[in-house]
Amino acid sequence: MRVFTVEPAPAGYSLVLHGGAGGRLSELSLDEQGRYSTGLTDAFLAGEHVLAAGGSALDAVCATVEQLENNPLFNSGRGAALTATGQAELDASVMTGDGRAGAIAVSRYAKNPVRLARKVMEESEHVLLVAPTKKLVEDWGLESVEADYFITPLRQDQLKNVQAKLLEGSRHGTVGAVALDVHGNLAAATSTGGMVNQSDGRVGDTPIIGAGNYAKDGVVGVSCTGAGEAFIEGVVAHEISARMRYAGTAVDDAVSATIEAELATRSVDGGVIAIDAAGRIVVAHNSPAMFAAYRDAEQLITLT
Ligand code: ASP
Repeated sequence: MRVFTVEPAPAGYSLVLHGGAGGRLSELSLDEQGRYSTGLTDAFLAGEHVLAAGGSALDAVCATVEQLENNPLFNSGRGAALTATGQAELDASVMTGDGRAGAIAVSRYAKNPVRLARKVMEESEHVLLVAPTKKLVEDWGLESVEADYFITPLRQDQLKNVQAKLLEGSRHGTVGAVALDVHGNLAAATSTGGMVNQSDGRVGDTPIIGAGNYAKDGVVGVSCTGAGEAFIEGVVAHEISARMRYAGTAVDDAVSATIEAELATRSVDGGVIAIDAAGRIVVAHNSPAMFAAYRDAEQLITLT
């Protein structure tokens, strides 16, 4: 397992994002690594801009995730992994540290699933909506698209190759962000197309609050990536928070102990990003590599 910890920055805010955990970086060409790195950097700067101006952690994580959703390289929004019948079925969630949450599953029409998840939190009495209609997207004033907007030729080829057993389904690409703002509030957002070749209608951990995404002010914000079933069974994001809250465990130890106890024992690899109430950042994965972006001593780090 690899664990990176960054002490709180003097600026009084913290931001970390991930772009999925998966196979070795050497599986990607240098050109591909460069393009991922640029996408991660641009998304990080979008969120950091919000936080530097005194904006909220919620606005920051949404700005970051939205950029990644619009980038077809990542497995969220346009360019999402496809189901067994070639559909793009998107899952996303947001949570603020004051205990509010919104999520969507099997979403087909919202251009930015993270925005729709936020609307569920802010405009409805619900937490999780499945298969939200195009009308709902438009009624909430969000940009809608046709379902095929999300489907790219690269993902269609990937699906064919996975189904022909020529390729293992690469898991790089699910995206998430966690932020602590200057007001001391935490937020987390996560967005995905799920696993390549998954059954139609399968829902992973991303929109399940406490599994793939969680935030609690005074404790921690968490966003996860990896085979979602294990994260649901291990209630991974909440488990990290519980270890910190009830046992007083430090964030880096809580993250690594949870990966060990809930993922390694299920023979699953994946990754976690987290920020504690002081602004300490953790990026950890037991997969060969993970895409992430964060600042360490002023330097922006991408890809781990
Ligand atoms: N956690 C996502 C899911 O299971 C996939 C991923 O993170 O790669 O839907």
